[in-house]
Amino acid sequence: MKTQHNIYIHVPFCVSKCKYCAFFSRACAKPDWDTYVTRILSEIDYWAEKLGKIDVPTIFFGGGTPSLIPTKHFAQIMNHLRNKFNIADDAEITIESNPGTLDSTCLDEFIGHGVNRLSIGVQSLNDDELVFLGRRHSVADAMRLIESAMTRDIRVSADFIYGLPNHNTKTVEKLCRDINQIGLNHCSMYELTIEPTTPFGKMNLDMPSNNEMADMYNTIANTLNLPRYEVSNYARAGFECRHNQNVWDGDAYIGLGVGAAGRVFIDGTWYEQMGGGAKFEPMSITARAIEKVITGMRTMRGVLLANDVKNVLNIEYINNHPELIIIADNRMHATDDGIMILDDLLVNLIK
Ligand code: SF4
Repeated sequence: MKTQHNIYIHVPFCVSKCKYCAFFSRACAKPDWDTYVTRILSEIDYWAEKLGKIDVPTIFFGGGTPSLIPTKHFAQIMNHLRNKFNIADDAEITIESNPGTLDSTCLDEFIGHGVNRLSIGVQSLNDDELVFLGRRHSVADAMRLIESAMTRDIRVSADFIYGLPNHNTKTVEKLCRDINQIGLNHCSMYELTIEPTTPFGKMNLDMPSNNEMADMYNTIANTLNLPRYEVSNYARAGFECRHNQNVWDGDAYIGLGVGAAGRVFIDGTWYEQMGGGAKFEPMSITARAIEKVITGMRTMRGVLLANDVKNVLNIEYINNHPELIIIADNRMHATDDGIMILDDLLVNLIK
């Protein structure tokens, strides 16, 4: 039986670059969408040839700013995917968006072409902070898009950033209370990290200390009315992002487009893959099992203890640290204390 693969499609264009952004994207007023789509279609052909008509449970358009894609080009990609693969009737199809790039007509067109989950880059509910971050939209723009999306029959998620130089537990608590008011079923809360190659990396910002960041992280869990299901993700039960959960669980996925990463599984062998034909190399079972531990331990439900995973674990360390690690129902997950030191924990629990 052929292995099902999730599909990630990278859209590497943004209207402008945010000051903290180290993602693979470039500011481009008028992307050449014909060329971009032609390349994505040929990558789809390549994988259909190699893998056959595989089942596809989820498709995720990430970026960059995928909501910039003209909907007729989006339709070309979706139609080609449907021709070449078995896209499940209930497949989760997500598109990332930025406020100000998506009006109601476009949103309806994306939905008409299959989108059933919208992820919105809100980042802050304070206009001064949005300017500081180099975002192009206002809080009003973000609220318009959220409210418009929430009236449609789709799942809606919003991304936020905390840990800005002026942030403390009080500001983060207010942010979480404001998010609660909106009534989202899913949101992502990312700590601001300063990457050296970005404008923020050259500004010598007075960032909160690690302890202050940890206090803010705990404040989020104590204030948001959505349970945490991954280090940075919160959702009402049943509203988790299926695509990401599948990837974190160690399922196979294909990355399409330059800047996309995938893990392809063919005839018992894992391959590290990158979109645009940048990489396709076999991985050892051990290397793949270690990845599964790293991504699985970021989730609250934890990593599935299949044989490949068990083989890379330091069982003695795990048995000696019940305050950090719990094993239940053939899964292993970190306790609240374990999550706070996850990087160190991973170093110790992998052989
Ligand atoms: S919109 Fe997202 S991907 Fe684009 S520059 Fe800003 S942070 Fe980076």
